[in-house]
Amino acid sequence: MKRYDAIIIGAGPAGIFAALELAETGMDVLLLEKGRDIGARACPIHAKGAKKCVHCKPCGIVCGWGGAGAYSDGKLTLTTEFGGMLDLYMEKPQLMSLIDYIDSIYLKFGATQTVYGDDNKDAVRKIQKDAASADLSLIPARIRHLGTDKCFEILSLMRDHLRDKCTVRTSDGVAEILVEEGRYVGVETTRGEKIYSKYLIAAPGREGAEWFTTQAGRLGLDMITNPVDIGVRVEVPAVVMEQITDVVYESKLVYYTKSFDDRVRTFCMNPYGVVVAENNAGLITVNGHSNAEKTSENTNFAILVSKSFTEPFKEPITYGKSIAKLANLLSGGVIVQRLGDLKAGRRSTEERIGRGLVTPTMKDATPGDLSLVLPYRHLTAIVEMLEALDKVAPGVGSRHTLLYGVEVKFYSSRLQLSNVLETQIPNFFAIGDGAGVTRGLAQASVSGVMVAQEIKRREKCCEGEAQ
Ligand SMILES: Cc1cc2nc3c(=O)[nH]c(=O)nc-3n(C[C@H](O)[C@H](O)[C@H](O)COP(=O)(O)OP(=O)(O)OC[C@H]3O[C@@H](n4cnc5c(N)ncnc54)[C@H](O)[C@@H]3O)c2cc1C
Repeated sequence: MKRYDAIIIGAGPAGIFAALELAETGMDVLLLEKGRDIGARACPIHAKGAKKCVHCKPCGIVCGWGGAGAYSDGKLTLTTEFGGMLDLYMEKPQLMSLIDYIDSIYLKFGATQTVYGDDNKDAVRKIQKDAASADLSLIPARIRHLGTDKCFEILSLMRDHLRDKCTVRTSDGVAEILVEEGRYVGVETTRGEKIYSKYLIAAPGREGAEWFTTQAGRLGLDMITNPVDIGVRVEVPAVVMEQITDVVYESKLVYYTKSFDDRVRTFCMNPYGVVVAENNAGLITVNGHSNAEKTSENTNFAILVSKSFTEPFKEPITYGKSIAKLANLLSGGVIVQRLGDLKAGRRSTEERIGRGLVTPTMKDATPGDLSLVLPYRHLTAIVEMLEALDKVAPGVGSRHTLLYGVEVKFYSSRLQLSNVLETQIPNFFAIGDGAGVTRGLAQASVSGVMVAQEIKRREKCCEGEAQ
């Protein structure tokens, strides 16, 4: 029976960076990924021109080598202020040095040199001033934009680099995490094979979060309830946002609603990008990306409303999914509506969208009515936020602005973890978006490095003790 030093579940950025770090030690590492290898990944919408999502299992967009990172917009957030919660587990300067470290690895594998946000300090201050007068706070970020095409290429090179350094099994998912008498022992794959190791690094991503939560429940691990973020993706002509996107590229604007004091923020801004559907285990939500090369005439970004639930409710993921299900039920996937139609209390139609000034980049979204889907509290927050944004970037609040719904972020359950991201079961670590501790490529990659460095430290300790 083969026994590995470490098993990694999931080949997203978190799992890959853990593997890259461990690969240099000569440790025997197995990486199990339920999706396909990077060269074999495909979405029927892109590859075969399918009109609608055909619910592949597993989804080619978020599963496979590279995880959700492979078709992501490839924006590396080089700041501690957003993109995850790792600052809860270490001091910010330490986190920043790890972000710099993973950034250097992305560069080594061919990342573009340009970093947005390093210059134009006066222009940033001007936007911050305008934002403040509209009750918005602007959190500027340093962003290295790889673009989807470049990101894919980098992840392919990482795959090649690891080819003879660790065992990678794609199309091979983990069904169960095996624990005996409180000690981690191994995993059982979906094919029923049991594989044993000393360490486990679980990096199942957002798509695998529900499976992981079930495993955690079965193993009696404590969970912390995170807020759930629900909202829409906004699409406007790129010129409308240029005064912001030309300066800060990714601007995180935060607003607290007058009506409910809820926190609303912009998220994942894609200048000249496209709006895309995201399949979360059969549930269709909306997202966006932009390529380094290809461009559209539009810019898209998400507006997300954060809501924390209090006792006794403990199922924010189910809440978010129920709202996404409503949109799927009404439209078969994603609903698109003009802001003017939403405010006028009527649905959008093909004809109304056709006369609009913004041409939708997501062609298979169904014109409809988001007020039939989103709770009043969320709708109010979105409209208030768009009105505030309109003061900073005139045109965002236009009646022609397109809203796609719904966008939901399911990083809602966070495991109780130590400051080295170890679960309550020794030698069993949980990292990345699936563990609820990160929300983006950079911090997901950092979490992989953190855990691998901890394992390396322990192995050296053991060697020392043995001598
Ligand atoms: C369209 C889109 C655009 C994005 N754009 C950006 C961006 O510009 N910048 C940014 O910072 N972030 C972006 N993100 C988010 C980013 O991709 C994620 O934060 C990041 O990929 C998380 O890394 P991860 O390794 O934790 O999880 P993932 O990348 O989700 O990888 C998890 C992997 O685990 C596998 N898996 C799950 N369960 C199992 C199992 N039981 N057995 C075996 N394998 C399993 C999955 O198949 C998947 O491949 C985007 C995401 C999407 C979907």
